[in-house]
Amino acid sequence: MLSQLACQQASPFRAADVPVQDLGSHQFDPEREFPESSPLQLAVLWTKPEETGLGLLHTLRQMGIPFFWTHRLDQALKHSQILLYPSVDGKTFTPEEAARLGRYVEVGGTIFAQNVFAGSVKPLFGFREFSPSRGRHWVSFQSANDVVFRYLDRPEEQKVRLGSEKISEIFWTNGYSPDPNAKVLANFEDGTAALLSKTSGMGRTYLAGVGLDDVTVRNQSNRDFEAQRRYANAFEPGTDVWMLLLRAWYEAYTPNWIRLATIPDGKRSVLLLSHDLDSEASVPLTGDYMAMERRRGLTSTLFMQMKYANDSVGPALLSARNLEFLRKAKSEGFELGSHSVSHALTFNKFPKGTGREIFRDYRPRIGWGSKDYSDGTVFGEVRVSKQLLDGGIPGQHTIFFRAGHLRVPPTLPEALERCGYEFDSSFTAGDVLTNFPYSLPLELGMTEDTRIYEFPVTMEDEEAPGLAGHIDSDLSVIGANADNGAINVLLVHPNDPGNKVPAEEAIIRRLPTGVGASDLATFAHYWRARDHVRWLVQPSRAPLELILKVRAAESVNGLTFEFQRQIAKADGIDGLRLEPHRLILPTLTAGQEVVVHIRYAP
Ligand SMILES: [Zn+2]
Repeated sequence: MLSQLACQQASPFRAADVPVQDLGSHQFDPEREFPESSPLQLAVLWTKPEETGLGLLHTLRQMGIPFFWTHRLDQALKHSQILLYPSVDGKTFTPEEAARLGRYVEVGGTIFAQNVFAGSVKPLFGFREFSPSRGRHWVSFQSANDVVFRYLDRPEEQKVRLGSEKISEIFWTNGYSPDPNAKVLANFEDGTAALLSKTSGMGRTYLAGVGLDDVTVRNQSNRDFEAQRRYANAFEPGTDVWMLLLRAWYEAYTPNWIRLATIPDGKRSVLLLSHDLDSEASVPLTGDYMAMERRRGLTSTLFMQMKYANDSVGPALLSARNLEFLRKAKSEGFELGSHSVSHALTFNKFPKGTGREIFRDYRPRIGWGSKDYSDGTVFGEVRVSKQLLDGGIPGQHTIFFRAGHLRVPPTLPEALERCGYEFDSSFTAGDVLTNFPYSLPLELGMTEDTRIYEFPVTMEDEEAPGLAGHIDSDLSVIGANADNGAINVLLVHPNDPGNKVPAEEAIIRRLPTGVGASDLATFAHYWRARDHVRWLVQPSRAPLELILKVRAAESVNGLTFEFQRQIAKADGIDGLRLEPHRLILPTLTAGQEVVVHIRYAP
């Protein structure tokens, strides 16, 4: 108690003011946000406007697939691909509308649907019956069998778990029984079809028995039924396979498709470096890692625990010496993030708090092994750590957070957004079953996003046998992610530099072809800017020519577009880089609009 009083009365540490914003509304109208603009877009026909469609929005935005959102069948039928979302029941279509959908497929249209129950469209989608169940736990893809499986080339991608078998009832799925003319592309373990396809005339339908929200945003919010096969340091694409399936579907059926790439500069993937500074002894050792990274032309993102009282785990970390270390790191180009105040093992159970927590009177107490806590709040951990970082380091505006022990309370997205953060890296990629960044939903729910982006940790150094013991398997995870255009976040604690600096360096040195490396924060800025880019394609009068219009809401480097067709020539702005099937834009400034004239090779 005495030491706390002393700290209160004569603190040498400056706390910046961190305003707490109102939460505001996160509802938005996808029809207004994603309007029709180009024939390349696939049409999302929104069959139940009372549902938010977050899983599909995440998928299409993350995969860079051009799309528009509409509730009007007429508008959707003008495009060569339609996604029916989220379901089709007896009330969705009139018999006349169902017949029009049938004619659309006959003449070459393609439909992807899920949760189709209506009797009138059974022949169109190729099923006789469906059987709803909460007891299905696995999906196996017949991955040699169809163009939509183009990216599912590894065992972990060809069979995915929907939930742990230890939990007898998970979310609802619909097992279909196919009609004789339909092709079964995936099965549940009970033998019913999880994905069907049927050709009618010149077109095709696809029907999934799994709701996309349940295998994307449910996992991303960690509301899954323990679906992950591994927690960290392994390739767990349980979310990604569904997004990659829709990406392959778009690429298979839109002639001359164009897609906004996930990775900048024409690369296949990136290794994103980060360190968690959460023990007094290890802070100075971080310098060894930084020196190696600088030698290789790199930096990393440093997450600093801002603990200001000794506790049962160890001494305080807020000290003049450590602040000086952080100032120097920042001046050398290393980005700083918050690693909370108390690093509690129970952080995921912390109460939300009030948003009025400040350094002067926020006094969380962490019991032995950090299993026990009192007086800690989510707002306190988020806000006070930022007050101290921003107050103690000139020019610092903390916008990146990583929770201690990677424990995530449901109120974290709200607390982060309201305290002015922009990015989080508190989940493991295994736990959320995805290797792509995503918008972190409010309350870790499934209906509304916050403005926070999540960058899940792919590989870390604490699981046995430690970093040096899994270099080869890390490289194979990186290779798997590179094949999908996904990212790799590496977390290394700065203790034991004798073993771990060479291990980290070996991973960097042996990165597969086309895989870059950078700090986590730089990529996070890129990702957000990419997500806010609006682009469209207009045909030109000349047959092989088209116009690509891109508008950047914020500054963005290395924005890359992928093309099905080979490009012969592109001009319109300086600094364009051209590869046969790729266009890399120069740095765009905030608000900049560019028009690129593209000519395909004949
Ligand atoms: Zn930590």
